Amino acid sequence: MDKSLITVTSPVLPDLGELNEYLKKIWDAKWITNGGQFHQELEKALAEYLCVPFISLFTNGTLPLITALQAMRITGEVITTPYSFVATTHAIWWNGCKPVFVDVLPETGCIDPNKIEAAITPKTTAIMPVPVYGKPCDMEAIQTIADKYGLKVIYDAAHAFGVKVNGVSPCAEGDMATLSFHATKVFNTVEGGALVCHDEATKKRIDYLKNFGISDETTVIAPGINSKMDEVRSAIGLINLKYVDECIEARHQVAIKYREALCNVEGVTFWDDMPGVKHNYSYFPIFIDAKKYGEMRDELYFRMKASNVLGRRYFYPLISTFSTYRSLPSASPENLPVATRMANEVICLPMHHQLKDEDILRVLELVVK
Ligand SMILES: *Cc1c(COP(=O)(O)O)cnc(C)c1O
Repeated sequence: MDKSLITVTSPVLPDLGELNEYLKKIWDAKWITNGGQFHQELEKALAEYLCVPFISLFTNGTLPLITALQAMRITGEVITTPYSFVATTHAIWWNGCKPVFVDVLPETGCIDPNKIEAAITPKTTAIMPVPVYGKPCDMEAIQTIADKYGLKVIYDAAHAFGVKVNGVSPCAEGDMATLSFHATKVFNTVEGGALVCHDEATKKRIDYLKNFGISDETTVIAPGINSKMDEVRSAIGLINLKYVDECIEARHQVAIKYREALCNVEGVTFWDDMPGVKHNYSYFPIFIDAKKYGEMRDELYFRMKASNVLGRRYFYPLISTFSTYRSLPSASPENLPVATRMANEVICLPMHHQLKDEDILRVLELVVK
């Protein structure tokens, strides 16, 4: 029996010939970072691809989150979701703000807008939702609440590259949105990220902040950070961007096969595509109801692992259970029943552009009993 390793994800790697041509240009120009030619080209190409007004490249997806809060001088309390990658909450913490966790919707895994108002206090200044797995949040409802209470909205859209809701990218929503171009994401620059904003003055401020706060040769306007994307990774981004739609379509085909095979499996649920939404198939989470399935989520997870098929319990444990955050009043499981249940039931199945039919069959043989 084939026991070769099936990984959860696999990075999109640029063709070496193509990369070499870019590298030669970088070497010839001897301009390897600090807003070089490819950095500028990638910002322009991404703004077009995502249909967003202004975008700044970063070295990863965490620093744009931290910088977004800095740029808007967010203080006090920030409402967020516990059902995300830990960087979302860490960015709030690094700004000296207090994260306030709100439960999520079972239909999307995104923050439940009906529970946001109860979490608002006089100290609340912002909401940081996450379109988790690329599933769109209820952006209209979130914006209505934000407008009513005068709060900023920053989307951690790390999962939402290429997603469109009625033709609009979730990155174009809110006051700012961030992206991650980490190797595991749908679009990667090895490590990388970006911050989307809506006017030129803000873009300028963000560009200062990601370069130590330096605004000209002799002026430093703020305690900025260093988070500039270099030319090599910008070039990788330019190459990978050409193939991203192809890769998303390959993922789509995997999702179709998983759904076909799993639709009648007792105790296994998953999400269908949403009307009006162009999905990016960045993850394929399934939820295991142990009573109906006859096996606990972890039993399935380890059974898969023993067969060299790697799933990922993503997002388990919840961010609110980590030592930094668990003493917050909003972190109690009673406050977060939906997120807590999802974290205990979820496995993300292998999902990437290079999964072969044999691989998909091996995954399914383990899940379908
Ligand atoms: C990947 C990810 C990040 C952080 O991105 P890095 O590029 O790894 O720093 C932030 N938020 C979410 C939801 C992510 O999945």
